[in-house]
Amino acid sequence: MSDCLFCKMVSGEIKPDKVYENDRILAFRDINPQAPVHVLIVPKRHIPTLDDLDDGELAGELMLAAKAVAEQEGLAADGYRTVINCKGHGGQDVFHLHLHVIGGRQMSWPPG
Ligand code: 5GP
Ligand code: ZN
Repeated sequence: MSDCLFCKMVSGEIKPDKVYENDRILAFRDINPQAPVHVLIVPKRHIPTLDDLDDGELAGELMLAAKAVAEQEGLAADGYRTVINCKGHGGQDVFHLHLHVIGGRQMSWPPG
C-alpha cells in the first residue's frame, strides 16, 4: 500500500525509531507517546484492521512480540497495557493493524 504510513515505515521510506524486528513484524516508538514507553507493533504485510486479520500464526507472533518488547523495555516486572483499536468506535486512526504496548506508569480502567 503505497499511501499507508506504516507500510512506509516497513519499507524504510520513512525511518521509524525501531525497537524490534523480525521477518514478519516491525516495532517502533509512537510519535505521540501516552506513557514513558509507547511502542507500536505492526505486521510487515498490510492488514488494515484487526477485523481483516485471518492468520492465526501471525496473530500469535504479534502477541509474542508485545511480550518481547515489554521485556526489552523493562516493563515486564511492573506490567504494561496492550491495545488494538479497531475501526471507528475503537478509535483507530491509522488503518494498518498495530498493537500498542504502553507502560512505565500506572494505567487506569475502564478506557475513556
Ligand atoms: P490508533 O489510534 O490508530 O490505534 O493509533 C495510531 C498511533 O499511531 C497513534 O498512537 C499515533 O500517535 C501514532 N502515529 C501517528 N503517526 C505516526 C508517525 O508518523 N510515526 C509514529 N511513530 N507514530 C505515529
Ligand atoms: Zn500498510
